Amino acid sequence: MAEEVRSPDTTALDEVVTFTSELIRIDTTNRGGGDCRERPAAEYVAERLADAGIEPTLLERTPGRTNVVARIPGTDPSAEALLVHGHLDVVPADPAEWSVHPFSGEVRDGVVWGRGAVDMKNMDAMVLAVVRSWARHGIRPRRDIVLAYTADEEASAEDGSDFLADRHAALFEGCTEGISESGAFSFHPQPGTTLYPIAAGERGTAWLKLTARGRAGHGSKVNTANAVTRLAAAVARIGAHTWPVRLTTTVRAALTELAALYGVDVDTSAPDLDVDVLLDKLGPAAALVESTVRNSANPTMLEAGYKVNVIPGQAVAYVDGRMLPGGEEEFAATMDLLTGPDVEWEFHHREVPLEAPVDSPTFAKLRAAVERFDPAGHVLPFTMSGGTDAKQFSRLGITGYGFSPLRLPPDLDYGALFHGVDERVPVDALHFGVRVLDHYLKSA
Ligand SMILES: [Zn+2]
Repeated sequence: MAEEVRSPDTTALDEVVTFTSELIRIDTTNRGGGDCRERPAAEYVAERLADAGIEPTLLERTPGRTNVVARIPGTDPSAEALLVHGHLDVVPADPAEWSVHPFSGEVRDGVVWGRGAVDMKNMDAMVLAVVRSWARHGIRPRRDIVLAYTADEEASAEDGSDFLADRHAALFEGCTEGISESGAFSFHPQPGTTLYPIAAGERGTAWLKLTARGRAGHGSKVNTANAVTRLAAAVARIGAHTWPVRLTTTVRAALTELAALYGVDVDTSAPDLDVDVLLDKLGPAAALVESTVRNSANPTMLEAGYKVNVIPGQAVAYVDGRMLPGGEEEFAATMDLLTGPDVEWEFHHREVPLEAPVDSPTFAKLRAAVERFDPAGHVLPFTMSGGTDAKQFSRLGITGYGFSPLRLPPDLDYGALFHGVDERVPVDALHFGVRVLDHYLKSA
């Protein structure tokens, strides 16, 4: 109990704000073209770990694309290690669209503003503040905790978690589970209801390249093998396709909890469950599950032609596809059908779907940690519609949960701030996160 009082201390609560703000000021924009430089942010983190007696290892596949890994030894040598990871890069931000400069890290009226305030320099800062608080008070966690601050999450992860999993697996020895972004922040679907969705799975990524080939020629001539027409037809079929419902264990568990919460009398295990009817009854809370009850494929980019009176011999499109756990075969078969004989498709980039158990002791502990600091909150599992570094670390046998706890004001549409304009996080929310993480990570 004494430890509970000592940590997190007021220094930790101050530091989390300073660290979030200062990390935002280090511009780590990742446009995906290889020009991102995470090194200054990595050095910032490494210095603050070293300060606290935690030895950081800096690792680069490409100069400037720096990752930081460190291990805090636990008190129970028989316990498996826990990975806590956060990425250091951010997506681009156009200052002209923002109320404050996106790389100012301004703290105004109790809110920290800037690119990364949500995704995910806030979590990077919370973890740093917690482990430094432990160092000040001689606190050690039960499990070994491996900290990983990664580069390149917002693009291919080749310079980040992919590289670490491939080349530095030994640093993650003994890690069986991990926590990171995109979960456990409060969501308020209606007045008086606070949900804390903890991510227990991710849909797999299936970015596709479609190529239509045809007969090139003059735009004024008859052409029954027009590549643009062929591509457009395939793209329209893909965009209009209604995918069949495919409920994973996690999504079903989320639906069960939401139905109970909303007083909807429905058997979510019934084979003839009409998911769309249920989603309708859940109102705004449906947003937590609606993108994960099916596979999906959205056309996003088109490339064809160079002159209005020239029919090109080839046309290309890109599609953002996502596959649920267990849904990979269905995805491929459906794409064969929708593209048809005149259009080839291939995986441009592919990552596996993930599913973490929701009946595990770890999920129970994550739930308890949130409920301890917000007893009125409802914790439930959900599946992320997209993906994170957890996919790469899953290759090392690490089961990932999305857990970056924040208690947010009901009127803040936090979900819309991911990669959005005016990204910002309240100081109070950071303090809540530090308390929850401190409690969870010590006893995990
Ligand atoms: Zn992120």
